[in-house]
Amino acid sequence: MTYINCPKCNDQSYFNLSSYTGPYRCMKCREIFNIVIENGEIKSSQLGKQDPDKLKLIKTYYTKEG
Ligand SMILES: [Zn+2]
Repeated sequence: MTYINCPKCNDQSYFNLSSYTGPYRCMKCREIFNIVIENGEIKSSQLGKQDPDKLKLIKTYYTKEG
């Protein structure tokens, strides 16, 4: 079992996977992170650069402006 501490709110969650690369959404603050797990260890966790909700908002905003 792999434990993840959310970089933003520090809430702890766990993965049953020993290796995983991809997006992870914090259950508490709902922030999206790009994480890399190898051999049951967190190698990388950073805020996702592409937040679907924010992109949707931006798209809606520009659609209205246009
Ligand atoms: Zn969080």
